[in-house]
Parts: sequence; C-alpha cells; structure tokens
Amino acid sequence: MRDRPRRRALVTGSTSGIGLAIARRLAQDGVHVVAHGLGSAQENAAALRDIGEAAGGGAAEFVEADLRDRHAIARLMQDLNDGGGLDILVNNAGMQRVAAIDRFVPEDWDDMLAVNLSAAFHTIRLALPGMRARGWGRIVNIASVSGLVAAAGKAPYAATKHGLVGLTKAVALETAREPVTCNAVCPGWVLTPLVERQIQSLASGEGLSRDAAAARLLGAKQPSQAFVRAEDVAAVVSFLCSDAAGEVRGAAWNIDGGYVAA
Ligand code: NAD
Repeated sequence: MRDRPRRRALVTGSTSGIGLAIARRLAQDGVHVVAHGLGSAQENAAALRDIGEAAGGGAAEFVEADLRDRHAIARLMQDLNDGGGLDILVNNAGMQRVAAIDRFVPEDWDDMLAVNLSAAFHTIRLALPGMRARGWGRIVNIASVSGLVAAAGKAPYAATKHGLVGLTKAVALETAREPVTCNAVCPGWVLTPLVERQIQSLASGEGLSRDAAAARLLGAKQPSQAFVRAEDVAAVVSFLCSDAAGEVRGAAWNIDGGYVAA
C-alpha cells in the first residue's frame, strides 16, 4: 500500500500552553506541524525544538503573525497556501482579560474579539478552499467552557467563545456533506500561562498564597477540583483530526472536570 502524504497542520498560538501540547501531539501523530505564536524569540525557538523532538527529530516550521491584524492573517494564509496548503487547522490562540463590563478597557474588547473570534473566521475562510480541493480537512477551534456557560467578569471572553462555538457549528453545516469537519473543544481550567496569570492576580488581589488562589479558582467552578492537563486536551484534538472522527461534526466537546455538568 502506498504511504499517505504527510498531513500539514497550522496550530495557532502554539508557543505555550494548550497550543504547544497540541502541536507536540500532532507531531507525534506524524503530522507536519506549522507552529505559530507571539512569544519571545527564545520561547518560539524552544517551542519549535520541542515540537521537532516530539516528531522524532522531524521538521516543523514556525510562522509569526499578529492575529489582531487581518491583513497579517491574510499574508500568513497566502504563504501557507502557496507552500502546499493545510490539511488541519487548529485555531487555538486566545487571550483573556477579566473585569466587570463597566470597567472593561474597550481596546481589550477589540483585541479579544479579533484574536479569539475574528482570527478563526479568517483562517477558516482562507484554508477551506484548499481542503476542499484536496478532498480532506479537519478544523478544530479551541473554545472554552466559557463558550457554553458564562461567568461574571468574563463578558468579552464568554461572548467571543460563544461566538466561536456558533462559528464552528455553522461551518460544520456548510461542510456536512464533505470530507472536511469542523469541531470545537471546550476545556475547563487548564494550568497554562494564561491561567497562571489569573491565579497570580487573584492571589495578590485577595492576599492569598498562590496555592490557595489556585484552589479557590478550581473550587468555585470545577467539580473535580483538579486542573485538566493540556496533554489531554491535545488527545481530544488528535482524535478529532483522525479519520475515525469523520462524522463528528459541529461538536462542542467539553473536557472540564465536570464544569458544565454542574
Ligand atoms: P497561553 O497564554 O499559554 O497561550 C496563548 C497563545 O496564543 C500563545 O502562543 C500566544 O503567543 C498566542 N497569542 C495570543 N495573542 C496573540 C496574537 N495577538 N497573535 C498571535 N498569537 C497570539 O494560553 P492557553 O491557556 O494555552 O490558551 C490557549 C487557548 O485555550 C486559548 O484560546 C484559551 O482561551 C483556551 N482555553 C484555555 C483554558 C485554560 O484554562 N488555560 C481553558 C479553556 C480554553
């Protein structure tokens, strides 16, 4: 039997946290990974090395684009399409600011809307024609439990993540009769730099130790009282990118220690 050509994936925001775990896992699965992020030069180089090691010494690429800028996204996608296109697109990059809506900085709203939602709209619309032409594709959007339920202080985060789940469902319906799928993954608390910043801000705001602040975050919302592991989120993504998941369409798959069951 002839070997299938190596699949190529873009994982946005894969210089740290969940995105890095997804990039590593897809590399282990034999996928050629294009890593992306806005980390420091050191972080970007370390991530690329990490992903290359996960690939067993195989090659990985690194690309940079500020996802707040739709022209930068268009240039990035043009380069990727010129270089062979994408079989897998994982929209993972995201940002979070927490504040009551009447104290929320309007510029932060603009940035969150751009990175958490509009970026996925642009990458999907620009990746889909190539997937269709090649007859196979997988799109996975990393949403959040905040795409399914809301929390006070997270109006922009909940709005963008609910939007991302809606975008996912609509794209899944537009591709329902094609060998291209689109799904969302909705993690609860995962211990990554994004959440560590929230723990530190809770600790300093409330005069708590770091561990007491972490326990309070989990205690309030996540019945398991344990953080989800980034590697386990990556395993769900790996499944959604497999041939076996060909009829999983428009799902918003929670992995959350019971967060949305409560
Ligand atoms: P992280 O802060 O560790 O990583 C975020 C990544 O996004 C980084 O690589 C960063 O460079 C990139 N990024 C941010 N702004 C960007 C921009 N303007 N342009 C390009 N890249 C940009 O965060 P994480 O916790 O790994 O989160 C990854 C995704 O998972 C996010 O979409 C987040 O909302 C989602 N999520 C996280 C959790 C959690 O508990 N950590 C839970 C649910 C969902």
